[in-house]
Amino acid sequence: MQVYKEFDLSEILWYKIGGITKYFIEATSEQDVKDAFDFIFQHNIKNYFIFGMGANLLFTDNYFDGAVIHITSSPIQDNTSDFMFGNQHTEITTSSQSDINVKGDCISAFAGITLDSVIQTGFSNNLMGLEWAGGLPSTIGAAIRGNVGAFGGEIKDVTKEANLLRIIDNSYNETQVPSSNLAFSYRSSVVKKDRSLIVLSATFQLKDGTNSEIEKAKLVYNNNIFYRKQHHPDPYTYPNTGSTFKNIKEKEDIDKILTVWPDIAHLVATKWYGKVSVGYINNRLGFSGYHIGEAQVSPLHTNFILNRGKATAADVEAIIRTIQKKYQETFGFMPEPEVEIVHS
Ligand SMILES: Cc1cc2nc3c(=O)[nH]c(=O)nc-3n(C[C@H](O)[C@H](O)[C@H](O)COP(=O)(O)OP(=O)(O)OC[C@H]3O[C@@H](n4cnc5c(N)ncnc54)[C@H](O)[C@@H]3O)c2cc1C
Repeated sequence: MQVYKEFDLSEILWYKIGGITKYFIEATSEQDVKDAFDFIFQHNIKNYFIFGMGANLLFTDNYFDGAVIHITSSPIQDNTSDFMFGNQHTEITTSSQSDINVKGDCISAFAGITLDSVIQTGFSNNLMGLEWAGGLPSTIGAAIRGNVGAFGGEIKDVTKEANLLRIIDNSYNETQVPSSNLAFSYRSSVVKKDRSLIVLSATFQLKDGTNSEIEKAKLVYNNNIFYRKQHHPDPYTYPNTGSTFKNIKEKEDIDKILTVWPDIAHLVATKWYGKVSVGYINNRLGFSGYHIGEAQVSPLHTNFILNRGKATAADVEAIIRTIQKKYQETFGFMPEPEVEIVHS
């Protein structure tokens, strides 16, 4: 475990947006996560937040007077580098290794391991079942919490169990929870509903494949990455958090849209499988390329908001509020953000 003080979160979060946190704790193993909470209890820190890659987070520009725990398998390499971290310094250092293990057709992984590492480990062991997640940026912990999904697959379909830490007052306990008790639903799980739960690790039951089946699974994986590259803005050029709003699936809201734009009824029925694409609506409402400061609605996909350089959380949030207001005026309801907005 490493603890940094006065750490600039924009250096590390996927969006390259975020203010200074009083403590920044890197946890690269299950033991590290427990040590991080011991540190929090010992220092009587009341305000804490955990993250994995930060691929779904818009973190406040304001000072975070607490601790941010980074559950990761990729720790900051050179923690004394002035170039990267100014005069911040490490206060505590213990070391431990991130874990990923294969047993039969099951892979167990520490929460900070990326979903992609699990997919690759599967392929190397002739195991498949996660190829739908090609190109989906996530750690295992966040993937379980949000029941990530894409191209018809969801993490719940291959999850066998998860090892959870429950934080109660100034202590914690650990439990092994079978998939059936994780209360998975669309982009949600018991971990999302209960902030006191932290994913320490998870086990996935994959499928043994023949060589030709594994080759096919790799093709699906690569095609999904290719699809994302073609249809989504490149997060490495201009950081973004994927879809800003959830697509609209409530019948009441869909009806409100169809009352104003009856011409898209056929798209709802055929192309969007009963939902309404927020990207389409945003585009038709004229938001393509719309910007505030250096935050911009992507012209390639109008449900993505890009950080074109030095965008702040306030800029991105202002765009979100502007779009919501336009929906309210046009249709009489507001779309719900998919990105998680974290205030201090
Ligand atoms: C380009 C792009 C494309 C995307 N495409 C998809 C997609 O197709 N499908 C999809 O479902 N999502 C998609 N997303 C969203 C994102 O990939 C997921 O939300 C992903 O799970 C985020 O993982 P993370 O490790 O970055 O989580 P973070 O953003 O770091 O955290 C997300 C939430 O999980 C919590 N969390 C993190 N680790 C743990 C843990 N160990 N225990 C408990 N809670 C934890 C955090 O507190 C936070 O509330 C996309 C994002 C981007 C940037």
